Amino acid sequence: MGKVDKGVKCMVKGCDNFAERSLSAEQVSKSSIKVEGSARRVYLCHDHYKQWKKETKKMRELEHIAY
Ligand SMILES: [Zn+2]
Repeated sequence: MGKVDKGVKCMVKGCDNFAERSLSAEQVSKSSIKVEGSARRVYLCHDHYKQWKKETKKMRELEHIAY
């Protein structure tokens, strides 16, 4: 995923950190992370990107077990 311009804020509700990564809204909807508005690009800070990665990794592992 692409890097983010300086000065862009994380879009997670209540989070005021600067964004580090951008994801598609679809990717983020697969986690429990809730973002403001309904933009197609979602900007996440370091911490929320880590949370997203952790949650979606768990999901991929569950899918793997299911098949
Ligand atoms: Zn954040």
